[in-house]
Amino acid sequence: MATIFDKIIAREIPADIVHEDEHVLAFRDINPQAPVHVLFIPKKPVATLNELAPGDEVLAGRLVMAAAAWAKKEGFAENGYRVVFNTNRDGGQSVYHIHLHLLAGRAMHWPPG
Ligand code: IMP
Repeated sequence: MATIFDKIIAREIPADIVHEDEHVLAFRDINPQAPVHVLFIPKKPVATLNELAPGDEVLAGRLVMAAAAWAKKEGFAENGYRVVFNTNRDGGQSVYHIHLHLLAGRAMHWPPG
């Protein structure tokens, strides 16, 4: 089932895109939870981490690698940042197209709510 992120990939709705390559798109979250809040998504639609299948190792790795490279490029590597994959109801997932949240620009709390 298509999600709002498919529409962002297709440029049917606008987004503040910060990174794009053949497989990954990254854009600023519309409701940021930190001074910097970027979502990294695969262009291939996968609903949740539960649907990752053998063969998706590269896809998952690409998300993590793209986020780490972007954080480094933007100067967040040294102070640090947080990445999160919310998964299903109890994980707080609201958009069913996997996405890596990258939060930066402030000290994070633990445990998260
Ligand atoms: P989830 O709750 O982990 O599924 O995260 C979904 C995220 O997508 C939330 O942080 C939303 O604020 C964000 N979001 C929803 N719609 C849009 C949009 O159109 N542009 C950018 N971010 C969005």
